[in-house]
Amino acid sequence: MPLSPKLTADQLATNLGDIAPRYSEQQAIVESSRCLFCFDAPCITACPTGIDIPAFIKKIMTGNVTGAARTILSANILGASCARVCPTEVLCEGACVMLDRDSDPIKIGRLQRYATDHVYENRIPVLKPAAKKSGKRVAVIGGGPAGMGCAAELARLGHEVVIFERKPNAGGLNTYGIAYYKMKPAVSLEEVALVKSLGVEFRCGVEVGEDVTRADLERFDAIFIGVGLGDGKRLRIPGEDLPEVIDALTFIEQIHTDPLHQIPVGARVAVIGCGNTAIDAATQARRLGAEEVIVIYRRGELQMSAYAFEYDLAKRDGATFLFHHTPVEVLGRDGHVTGLRLARTRFNDSGALEQVEGSEFTEPFDMVLKAVGQQKQSEWLTKLFPGLELNRNGTMVRDFETGRTSLPRVFTGGDCANGGREVVNAVGEGKKAARGMHKMFGEAEVVGPIQPSRWGVANGPFGSGLDAPIRVPELEAKYEQLSPASHPEPATSALT
Ligand SMILES: Cc1cc2nc3c(=O)[nH]c(=O)nc-3n(C[C@H](O)[C@H](O)[C@H](O)COP(=O)(O)OP(=O)(O)OC[C@H]3O[C@@H](n4cnc5c(N)ncnc54)[C@H](O)[C@@H]3O)c2cc1C
Ligand code: SF4
Repeated sequence: MPLSPKLTADQLATNLGDIAPRYSEQQAIVESSRCLFCFDAPCITACPTGIDIPAFIKKIMTGNVTGAARTILSANILGASCARVCPTEVLCEGACVMLDRDSDPIKIGRLQRYATDHVYENRIPVLKPAAKKSGKRVAVIGGGPAGMGCAAELARLGHEVVIFERKPNAGGLNTYGIAYYKMKPAVSLEEVALVKSLGVEFRCGVEVGEDVTRADLERFDAIFIGVGLGDGKRLRIPGEDLPEVIDALTFIEQIHTDPLHQIPVGARVAVIGCGNTAIDAATQARRLGAEEVIVIYRRGELQMSAYAFEYDLAKRDGATFLFHHTPVEVLGRDGHVTGLRLARTRFNDSGALEQVEGSEFTEPFDMVLKAVGQQKQSEWLTKLFPGLELNRNGTMVRDFETGRTSLPRVFTGGDCANGGREVVNAVGEGKKAARGMHKMFGEAEVVGPIQPSRWGVANGPFGSGLDAPIRVPELEAKYEQLSPASHPEPATSALT
C-alpha cells in the first residue's frame, strides 16, 4: 500500500514541538546561580568552539543577557543552534565539575539558548562587521555549519567572503537534517541572516562543480571546502528500489520542507542502522504517527554508535530494537513494500560478523528507512581538485590546527574533513581554518579565548576547546591520519 500521513496538524505540532523549551527568566537566574565560575573551567576546554562559559553564565546571573549572547556568538556564530543540538552531555555539561559533587551539571545548553533567543527575538545586534577590510577574497564551498563558522570568522577579521551553496537555503544539516523536535529550520535561517549581516555574500542554488568551475574559484585568494558528507549508502539487497524504501536523510529533510500533516509515514516502519541518524529517523517516524518502529542493527547494543541519551529517547518514544539482525531482502507485492526478510548475525571465533545459516525469517513492514551511513565526497573532490591528497577513508589530508589541505590555498573543515561529527565541531573547524587563512594572508595570528589560568603562559595550550580540543584518539585514527601531512608554503600565483 502507498504510504499516507497519519496525524492531524494539531497532533503533529504537539508531537514535534520543542523537546527542551526555553527557560523562563526565573529559571535562568536560578540555574546560572548554581555555577561555581571555575577559574580553570573544564567546560570551556570541552567546547570545540571555546565559548567562555562561566563568563556568559555570570552575565545571565547579573541580568546582562545581551552581554551573555555577545560572549557566546563571538566565539560560536551558531550559538543558538548549538544550544539546541549539541550533545552537551558528552561536551561542556559532561565536563562540569558539579558532576564530581554528585550534583547535576549546570544546564549550559539551556542557558545558552536563553541568552541567544533573547537577542534574536528582540533583534538586538551584538556583532558588527569589520571596520577595516583586508582586500582578500575567500570562496567558501558549502553553507553548512563549517562554511558559516569559517565565513563569519573571516568576515569579522576583515576579509571578503562568498559562500556557494547548492540548496535553496544555507544552513546545511541545521536547516534540513536536525531532528525537528530539537530545532526548527527557522532558527538556522536566523543564523544565516546573522552571518549575512557581517557582510558575507551567500549565493544559494549554486552548485560548485556544475555552476561554478575550478577557474572561477581560482580568482579567490583562498578556498574553504565545507561540503559535508554525500548521499546515504545503499543496502545492496533485492527490493531496495521499491518506493517505500527511503533514505533516512530524505525522510528527515521532508519533515523540514513540507507541511507536517502531509508527510507520508508507514504504520509499521523498519529503520536499518543504529547511529544517531537512525535513532532520529525512528523517533520522528513515531512522532509522525507510525504505530510501530523497529530499529534493526547487525551488531549488538554495545557496538551501536548512537549516543545513550538519543537511544533512551527513542525507547521512551516507543521504538523497539532488534540487535544482531540484518535485512537480506525487501519483500514487495504490486510494487509496494510488504516486509523484510531478515537473518540473524553473530560474531564468529575470529571476531568477524557473519550471518547465522538457516536463521532467515520474514517480518511485515510497509516502510523501510535506510540509515547505514553517508558516502564521502571523494569523487567530487578529486574531480574538482585533482592534486588534493586524500586519506584512505576518503577524507582530506589536512593540518589539524589550521584545516589546510595538501593544496596550499585550500582549507577544509566539518563533516567532509572529520568524517562526520557534530555541528559544534564543524563550526570550530571552520573558525580554525579562517584563522589559518588569516595567518597565511600575512596577518597577525589570532588565538584564544584564553582561560585566566593561562594568562602569561607563552607556550602550551591556551586552555580553550578551540585551541586544545579534547582529543578522541580512536575517532581521529579512524577519520584521519594522525601525523599531519607536510604542507608546502603557498605559491603566490595559483591556488594549487
Ligand atoms: C540526521 C542527522 C542528525 C544530526 N543531528 C545532530 C545533532 O543533533 N547534533 C549535532 O551536533 N550534530 C548532528 N548531526 C551532525 C551535524 O549535522 C553535522 O556534523 C554538521 O551539519 C556538519 O556541518 P558541515 O557544514 O560540515 O556539513 P553540512 O551540514 O552537511 O553542510 C554542507 C553544505 O554544503 C553544501 N554543498 C555540498 N556540496 C556542494 C557543492 N558542490 N556546491 C555547493 N554547496 C554544496 C550542502 O548543500 C550543505 O548545505 C546530525 C547529522 C545528521 C545527518
Ligand atoms: S565547569 Fe560547571 S560549575 Fe564550573 S564554570 Fe563550567 S558550568 Fe560552571
